[in-house]
Amino acid sequence: MIPMDDRDGFIWFDGKLVPWRDAKIHVLTHGLHYASAVFEGSRAYGGNIFELTRHNERLAKSAEILGFSLPYGTAELDAACKAVLRANGHVDAYVRPVAWRGSEQLGVAAQHTKIHVAIATWEWPSYFAPELRERGIKLTMAKWRRPAPDTAPTQAKAAGLYMICTLSKHTAEAEGWHDALMLDYRGQLAEATGANLFLIKEGVVHTPTPDCFLNGLTRQTVIGLARARGIKVVERAMFPEELKTADEVFITGSAAEVTAIGQIDDYHYQVGAITRLLRDDYEKLVRQPAKSEAA
Ligand code: PMP
Repeated sequence: MIPMDDRDGFIWFDGKLVPWRDAKIHVLTHGLHYASAVFEGSRAYGGNIFELTRHNERLAKSAEILGFSLPYGTAELDAACKAVLRANGHVDAYVRPVAWRGSEQLGVAAQHTKIHVAIATWEWPSYFAPELRERGIKLTMAKWRRPAPDTAPTQAKAAGLYMICTLSKHTAEAEGWHDALMLDYRGQLAEATGANLFLIKEGVVHTPTPDCFLNGLTRQTVIGLARARGIKVVERAMFPEELKTADEVFITGSAAEVTAIGQIDDYHYQVGAITRLLRDDYEKLVRQPAKSEAA
């Protein structure tokens, strides 16, 4: 594994492309101590970043929810993402913008910190190994639950919300699972640690209402693809007992794409026809230049 801070290439950092290894911040950065940081993750396919503008709009929205505004507009960030992708010579890659409060002030209150933005790209072929994607990954239930919307800013893609995701994924991996499935504060099915959840039963696609977790862009795309195929999609409150009777299960995310689930604790699933169809439709869509952003 090549360490993330020791690679060739460029990172867009506060308006300029800087050599990868020079993209550094001070240890007394507010974002590091108090999680005043928001980020995005999108993918480029054949040089086009899929849903680039919507990702950068979400970055701005996440920042706003955390009480700061980005010093760059969405059009500037779109251009910056394309510039860093090009500078790194990446065609199929992951794109990671991040924005955070700087080191001018350190304490719970930090109204006078400067807001910084950086964007990196790297090659990341598949979030889960391709052979795993074929037979479906294995999830276990996390002990941590997604917090209520009046407990945390759940609609932001905010660094702080990932603390329980990292804990849950580490525990799952230590026990031989690929990822963890999280319930919400009510005990309802929520999502995986970095991807949304879908269950298929008798030809109908069911997915939890995203009222306390991210309404993923991939989730929205896949719902559209399913409906375009005439498949019924129901967004509703969902409960763990439903895992027992599901025919197929998959998760969605910009990094995870459409990934089939083969097992959740004691329940086993086939990688079924609807999962395969939506996975193929998604793979086709992201590679259509007209539907994604031209680089
Ligand atoms: N939930 C969480 C916690 C995530 O990190 C992600 C990935 N951004 C998603 C859902 C899926 O979001 P998207 O499809 O927009 O990538």
